[in-house]
Amino acid sequence: MDQVMKDWLQESVGKTYGNFIDGRWQESASKKTYPVFNPGKREQVLGYFPASTAEDVEQAVNAAHKAFAAWSKVPGPDRAAILLRFADLLEKYAEEIAYMLSAEQGKVLAESRGEVLRAAKEARFAAGEAFRIEGKTLPSERADVWNAYVRYPIGVVAAIAPWNFPVVTPVRKIAPALAYGCTVVFKPASVTPWTSVRLIELLAEAGVPQGVVNLVIGSGSRVGDPLVKHPLVRGISFTGSSNLGISIHELAAKRLAKTQLELGGKNPAIVFDYDDAEEVAKQIVNAAFTCSGQRCTSISRVIVLKDKAKELTEAIVSEMRKIKVGPAWDSSATMGPLVSEEQLTSVMQYIELGQKEGARLLYGGEMLTHGEYADGYYLSPTFFDQVKPEMSIAREEIFGPVLTLLAVEDEGEALRVANNVAYGLAASIFTKDLSQAYRAVERVESGMVHVNHGTASQAHMPFGGTKQSGYGAFSIGSTNIEFFTDMKVVYFQYEK
Ligand code: NAP
Ligand code: MG
Repeated sequence: MDQVMKDWLQESVGKTYGNFIDGRWQESASKKTYPVFNPGKREQVLGYFPASTAEDVEQAVNAAHKAFAAWSKVPGPDRAAILLRFADLLEKYAEEIAYMLSAEQGKVLAESRGEVLRAAKEARFAAGEAFRIEGKTLPSERADVWNAYVRYPIGVVAAIAPWNFPVVTPVRKIAPALAYGCTVVFKPASVTPWTSVRLIELLAEAGVPQGVVNLVIGSGSRVGDPLVKHPLVRGISFTGSSNLGISIHELAAKRLAKTQLELGGKNPAIVFDYDDAEEVAKQIVNAAFTCSGQRCTSISRVIVLKDKAKELTEAIVSEMRKIKVGPAWDSSATMGPLVSEEQLTSVMQYIELGQKEGARLLYGGEMLTHGEYADGYYLSPTFFDQVKPEMSIAREEIFGPVLTLLAVEDEGEALRVANNVAYGLAASIFTKDLSQAYRAVERVESGMVHVNHGTASQAHMPFGGTKQSGYGAFSIGSTNIEFFTDMKVVYFQYEK
């Protein structure tokens, strides 16, 4: 039992928070707040957060627009210095931020600590990018003319984040925005605004000037929508569900605002061959059940050749038996609750649907309601085999701790099945045959592909998807320059 976290929570919950606009904490124009609860202990109110409206969005966008003139002129290395201080602060307060993160999102403490440290790494990478906003020169067709193209920041960026990674996703948007000279209005998911407040405090402490980063907390319809529609917002970096991403893209397209969309997934692990079934099972189970399966890059389909299916299935089940579901303050727990009742209900519906469709429920699938579990949204990790490609559980994103297994005849069928979904975010391929690995990497339709390990990304590599899983510049790596800056081509005659 992590008593320190429990005690910390006891002392820290129940406060009222505001929006951060133009360098000032303030209540919403609506004067209203709403409570945010702990998904591991649903009666516990973590805090009261502003139920903001379009009026708050208007103020925040205007503040960001005003601040842009000066911020975009701050030299890149100076902007980087602020981000490096911010990364140091994330590390300094990592434990406390991890408590908040686990309390509002539900993930176990080890995962929360990892997320905070990952955010620090990404902030440092972004800081480095502020030194590398590269242009190019080319020889001219004419004598005494200098040809070049340069990059400049686009202006105010809207950052809209989901609830599954409430620390790293905002940092993944805000840090590069600042590195490239943009200003930001940030809207967190309404169920996870607590860590966002802390992130903004630390950005201010690191030296981000007034108006450069603004936080508006509230619902998608009352805050997200007016933010997306605001004419002064030049780019929208959105992470969330595919349907919403598409409708945001439609709205943005009407005024040719840019979008960077990180959307859903139905990620396969294609298993052809291995030396050690247990090791493959470990990789798959870890990638499937981290964050209770509420990761856009979670493995949700195992596509395995028939001759390996039995052995791999057994190895996966025995790996799943090691998962211990529990609240974040239970240090022996390895999987937390789901984020909300809505999410729990939706995942339970898929588990019922899978059984109705004729898949075999091999492991888990129950809501946990005894003892301490009764206080939160706990579900046992779930595994279906005998799954067919046309079943809903094999095609739709469940976004919970549910893994499916589909057995196939050969490599061709494996890749056809893998690609037979609307999504294309991440994929894993397990094989010992180098040629087969190359063929599969080439043919699998996904933005990211991992050979012989699970779908874990790194803090300096481009991150994104294809098909319904994403659009626009990949986030994280140096690809961000395509979203946060525009190009200007310069012809410069220096002699007549
Ligand atoms: P969501 O329902 O799509 O919401 C995402 C964000 O959009 C939230 O802040 C939400 O606010 C806001 N929003 C809602 N309606 C809006 C509107 N009309 N205009 C503008 N913003 C609006 O996603 P979620 O349920 O939070 O997260 C789960 C989804 O995110 C999954 O599909 C998952 O795959 C995807 N995801 C993708 C990635 C990736 O990198 N590819 C990473 C993480 C998650 P409210 O919270 O107030 O509804
Ligand atoms: Mg949602």
